[in-house]
Amino acid sequence: MTRNVIIFVEHKAGHTRKVTFELATEARALADQIGGRALAVALGNGASTVAQALGKYPLDEIHISEDPDVDRFLLDPTVDYLEAVARSAGPSIVLVGNTMMGRDVAGRIAARLQAGLTSDVTGIRVEGARVECIAPKLGGNTITTCAFKEAPYGVVTIRPNAFAAASLETGAQVVQIAKPAGKSYALTIEAEVEEASDEMGLEEAPVVIAGGRGLGGPEPFDTLLKPLAQALGGTVGASRAAADAGWVPYSLQIGQTGKVVSPQLYLCAGISGAIQHKVGMQTAGTIVAINKDGSVPIGEFADLLVVGDAFKILPELTQLVQESKAAHA
Ligand SMILES: Cc1cc2nc3c(=O)[nH]c(=O)nc-3n(C[C@H](O)[C@H](O)[C@H](O)COP(=O)(O)OP(=O)(O)OC[C@H]3O[C@@H](n4cnc5c(N)ncnc54)[C@H](O)[C@@H]3O)c2cc1C
Repeated sequence: MTRNVIIFVEHKAGHTRKVTFELATEARALADQIGGRALAVALGNGASTVAQALGKYPLDEIHISEDPDVDRFLLDPTVDYLEAVARSAGPSIVLVGNTMMGRDVAGRIAARLQAGLTSDVTGIRVEGARVECIAPKLGGNTITTCAFKEAPYGVVTIRPNAFAAASLETGAQVVQIAKPAGKSYALTIEAEVEEASDEMGLEEAPVVIAGGRGLGGPEPFDTLLKPLAQALGGTVGASRAAADAGWVPYSLQIGQTGKVVSPQLYLCAGISGAIQHKVGMQTAGTIVAINKDGSVPIGEFADLLVVGDAFKILPELTQLVQESKAAHA
């Protein structure tokens, strides 16, 4: 069965996440393998701005609507528009970022389309007409391969940072989506409360500098971790112990009950490496841990365990990185 590939574009007033470009690149590759078209759907205020940014990626069509209902109501209008594009495109694989919002959209659109759903996918393989999705489960202890049955639709959430984004201007056609008829919505968004967080999404950052209970309080997150994260072009994360203590917002928590990150470099200080933390960061490219105890569990799976006091090592490391950057500027 020939299927198209449709990506859902998550954005805020036209600013999108890096995972969108990873989705766009994978959509093209997948569409070429299964003989379909690669489409994107961007909705709400700023949809045309994000469509421009997506113009640098090899999509066939970008379907947009700036309908204010999308931003005024909870996800129902978003799913209505996405469903309308999917139904008019015909049999399709819908790719969504495995983010908070993406997971919400994916579940709803899968129910609407009566489609199968595979989540947190890190690889996609095409075997003849079969689309196989590879996803780590049980905290990464098992790697599963799930294939869609011969149903017209399938929904996949993609782990940020798992696929490469490669721009290639092709001048995708921008298509206005007609407003789905006969819909009315009850739940309006009254206010959006955002926890303070860095510009860069934790799940998408190429470098994560994380801190734990060993840092002893909230200040080192600002004074020690943030400068190093900035110097390395990354962002700050934390263990649950640090979030539970109220030192950082829960949005920075990494692990089983927090976020799953897969950066190129994960550097942590004052984190012991409990299994519940490990499952949120073990797929990082390089893991460096700073701990004053040389026998901590994180030493068993870190690429490098630096034994010493984080309060001495972090400022020196930051200075070295800053000096090296200045020398190569
Ligand atoms: C159901 C469940 C879900 C959970 N989910 C998560 C989760 O999502 N994420 C998560 O992180 N945890 C989670 N936990 C908690 C987890 O089990 C650990 O308790 C937690 O990860 C410990 O955090 P930590 O490493 O910061 O603290 P600790 O284990 O107390 O480690 C602190 C480390 O700091 C070191 N240290 C102290 N001072 C210094 C210094 N000056 N310089 C360098 N090192 C120093 C110590 O040697 C120690 O190794 C969960 C637990 C349960 C039961």
